[in-house]
Amino acid sequence: MKPAPEQILAAVRSQKAWIAELFDELRAGSVDGEGVTRDTFGAGEQFGYRVIEGRAEAMGLAIEHDHGANMYMTLAGRDPAAPRIMMGSHIDSVPRGGNFDGAAGVIGGMVAQRALQSLGLTPACDVTTMAIRAEESVWFQVSYIGSRTAFGVLPDGSLDATRVDTGRTLADHMAECGADIDQIRAGKAHLKASDIRAFVEIHIEQAPQLIEAGLPVAIGTGVPGNFRYPYIQIKGEYAHVGLPRRFRKDAALAASDFALGLDALWQENDTAGRPMAFTIGRFHTNTDVHALTIVPGEMTASLDVRAYDAAHLDELEQALFELVRRIETARGVEFDLGQRASADVAPSDPGVFAGLTASAERLSIPSQPLASPASHDTATFTVAGVPSAMLFVRNEHGSHNPYEAMEIDDFIEAAAVMTGWLVEQVTE
Ligand SMILES: [Zn+2]
Repeated sequence: MKPAPEQILAAVRSQKAWIAELFDELRAGSVDGEGVTRDTFGAGEQFGYRVIEGRAEAMGLAIEHDHGANMYMTLAGRDPAAPRIMMGSHIDSVPRGGNFDGAAGVIGGMVAQRALQSLGLTPACDVTTMAIRAEESVWFQVSYIGSRTAFGVLPDGSLDATRVDTGRTLADHMAECGADIDQIRAGKAHLKASDIRAFVEIHIEQAPQLIEAGLPVAIGTGVPGNFRYPYIQIKGEYAHVGLPRRFRKDAALAASDFALGLDALWQENDTAGRPMAFTIGRFHTNTDVHALTIVPGEMTASLDVRAYDAAHLDELEQALFELVRRIETARGVEFDLGQRASADVAPSDPGVFAGLTASAERLSIPSQPLASPASHDTATFTVAGVPSAMLFVRNEHGSHNPYEAMEIDDFIEAAAVMTGWLVEQVTE
């Protein structure tokens, strides 16, 4: 028997006190004076795991830890052999971050499980909330450590990465939190795509687009892929300030052309409704040589370009090359783009996206589609071949700062959309 939309809404909205109290408990144990710090494979993340595990025990969920110290909290289904539905997100945070980035997705999964319990529904298959380790790459400069360990695809060398504050290796930190380093080195996979019917991650929005739209919830269309050039060198010629313009090979002006050229490209894409972003995170002269009275002969920059389909990314990279050629000719400089890194795009599964959209409509919860500006563990699931999508919750002031401002009522709407979708998946 399928519950009516009003019953689903009631089963989620009635959990408000439980939800608020759990977020408060997480915050209270990880405040750092300015914000919240749940350090990756450290005391803060460990604290978060203990709190969440305690709640899962109280709910009567089956609790399991994998070789990467990720935690799985499962509501047993009628057929334990059937591919399961998974939800979840990460427990860790950046230093002096906010309380909701990550934790909202874990608590959201538990809220949906509690709703099934209170509706008296035994799901057709197992329903698991995953509390994922180490999503925030700021600590070890490695992306998606927890989810990639779960799928056995952590890149070689990652275990030797050192944490920015402690200087100790990832292997060391992971072992301390109960991970099995030998199994990780051997590339063991705990999760297999064929065992998972779908994965959904609730996350706070990290931009103010839902605030602008006046909507509580968005349904993610995909996680962007990127290409990155971390160490771009622009070589011109150092010269005396008196040198006339026509003789100059000014690297700073060439770099400015580069930045503004990319910005014009972004504006064109924006106007055409093609979502993308670029960021020049580092942009500087050579501080050993630069001076008030010297025409700059060198510039260094980094570049991250992100977009939502592989062909679009390719097009942007060709436009980048073309821009570089134009500036080289116009300014008499030389670009060396240096080493290149990239990540695959992770478009949402059309079926899961449609299911979440239909759920929001059934529950009369206003929503819109939204391309995620940021990277998320969902990308690991998508790339592994699991049909996946995300739900974003309206949030003022962005994230990765102490001022995240997600309203619990908005979070509840997102959890209700996920619950409505889940009910459709696990009932006849
Ligand atoms: Zn996050």
